Amino acid sequence: MYGFEYVAPETLDDALGLVREHGDDAKILAGGQSLIPILHYRLARPRVVIDINSLPLGDVTADDGRLRIGALVRYHELEESDTIARRCPVLAEAARLIGNVRVRTLGTVGGSLAHADPAAELPAVMTALDARLVVASASGRRTLAAREFFTGPLTTALTPGEIVTGVEIAAVPAYGWAVEELSRRAGDFAIVAVVALVRLDRLGRVDDARLAFGGVADRPVHARAAQVARDALDPPSDAFVSGAYRRHVAGVLCRRALTRAVARALA
Ligand SMILES: Cc1cc2nc3c(=O)[nH]c(=O)nc-3n(C[C@H](O)[C@H](O)[C@H](O)COP(=O)(O)OP(=O)(O)OC[C@H]3O[C@@H](n4cnc5c(N)ncnc54)[C@H](O)[C@@H]3O)c2cc1C
Repeated sequence: MYGFEYVAPETLDDALGLVREHGDDAKILAGGQSLIPILHYRLARPRVVIDINSLPLGDVTADDGRLRIGALVRYHELEESDTIARRCPVLAEAARLIGNVRVRTLGTVGGSLAHADPAAELPAVMTALDARLVVASASGRRTLAAREFFTGPLTTALTPGEIVTGVEIAAVPAYGWAVEELSRRAGDFAIVAVVALVRLDRLGRVDDARLAFGGVADRPVHARAAQVARDALDPPSDAFVSGAYRRHVAGVLCRRALTRAVARALA
């Protein structure tokens, strides 16, 4: 019979000490929306589960033109936070598309980023936003650009002993934004998700466009021009849809996202 030890440290230092001590034998528990099914199906058999929910990583703050989001901020808080609505509303729009109410109540920003599902919304949004992930270990702290953090399917640049403690995002106040996605049923992971951020110049011409795609590769894909992006994509086929269909959908969603983002930038 399989069992594991459960620990719930109350300080980051204690958590980092435990992660260092147990290494690959340990799993961090945040919202549990991916880890619990993984344990249920015995896809992982950690000897120790380190519950980080008591750590003080649940704040959203804004200063110096930077937005800081703690790893334990839940998706529903992204939807409801006034600070997010004012400083980075694309995050609220993305959070509303994730899973169902239970998933949005429990799932965390840090958990979504660390889990690194290629079809997940937040990794794509953080890629479009040029966000920096803040990572701590017993020997210090470092930050990584979202674009270097995601390295493959369910794979990141995290090294053993590291915990994601939060995300830092430079202000994007003048950008219009939109998130578009297609999924088989409401609440399912996206087949394709597109995030668009657009800034216009004084004449209303596009001055900067940032695009990121989810569901089209083994990690979020970043691009600056819609046609180039569509042509450059080589999405995989799976049990549900072909790669060619995914590519077509990516082009359609990209146009829709850019149209809505430009309308918002003009408003
Ligand atoms: C029915 C259902 C539908 C879903 N639909 C979607 C969807 O549409 N879009 C979407 O994006 N997701 C979806 N999800 C997944 C959901 O977003 C998960 O919440 C997310 O993948 C993991 O976040 P979590 O906080 O629950 O992390 P957990 O499940 O607790 O952990 C996930 C993994 O990340 C590690 N981890 C967690 N936090 C940290 C941290 N701070 N530092 C380092 N490692 C950490 C854990 O050890 C584990 O390996 C769905 C899940 C379910 C059950």
